[in-house]
Amino acid sequence: RQSIGRITTGTDSLDSLLLGGIETQAITEVYGEFGCGKTQFCHALCVTVQKSLEEGGLAGGVLYIDTEGTFRPERIIEIAKVHNMDPSKALDNIIVARAYNSAHQVLILEEAGKIIREENIKLIVSDSTTGLFRAEYLGRGTLANRQQKLGRYIRLLARIAEMYNCAVVATNQVSTSPDTFFGDPTKPVGGNIVGHASTYRIYFRKGGKNKRVAKIIDSPHHPASEEVFELGAKGVQD
Ligand code: ADP
Ligand code: MG
Repeated sequence: RQSIGRITTGTDSLDSLLLGGIETQAITEVYGEFGCGKTQFCHALCVTVQKSLEEGGLAGGVLYIDTEGTFRPERIIEIAKVHNMDPSKALDNIIVARAYNSAHQVLILEEAGKIIREENIKLIVSDSTTGLFRAEYLGRGTLANRQQKLGRYIRLLARIAEMYNCAVVATNQVSTSPDTFFGDPTKPVGGNIVGHASTYRIYFRKGGKNKRVAKIIDSPHHPASEEVFELGAKGVQD
């Protein structure tokens, strides 16, 4: 078994919350409402994972599964510049796969092994994990079917994380829709299927203009602390 690696978030606050950064061989779920910074967090990690081990990265590439069309190359360029990295090289090391429906999203993962090996992928971003599943499987009658498909996707993520010693970040949006909302706004949608399969769960909430608050949920290893961070040029910053 290979040893677990860590990717710095590029911030002292979130690194301290995560005891150094996000781990390989694990799924880290990031959930919270729209605009809380989930996608910005993913963009920041796309850059920091490329740093050397000494600098807190894993000198690796990224497979970014984009289900909402919110990947922004210009954000990567901006974040890379703040980190004094070559922006075009930073972009080259990110393979973006736009998923158009949930079946396509699963297919991307099923076919990802070769590219993960060949491109030295060390971070897989799944942003957002549940959106397409939610949109396609509406109503109570299809809930079981949806959970089964989503479950398969999450198990694939977990297996890939282990097999290739990759970090996985899976975002999940909190919804207030009656179909998916089970009464507690701090609980993500998807009947908690993502949460159950995740090694770590981080909850983001808004705390003023660009201020955000991150909290680790139910971790036996982490102190139940909260950290404040900001959204800005670095994606996430102190
Ligand atoms: P989520 O994915 O959780 O819905 P995002 O990660 O897309 O949320 O965060 C969107 C927010 O990020 C915006 O509302 C804005 O406040 C902030 N943001 C985006 N780009 C920048 C930037 N370049 N500088 C500062 N804040 C930004
Ligand atoms: Mg987003």
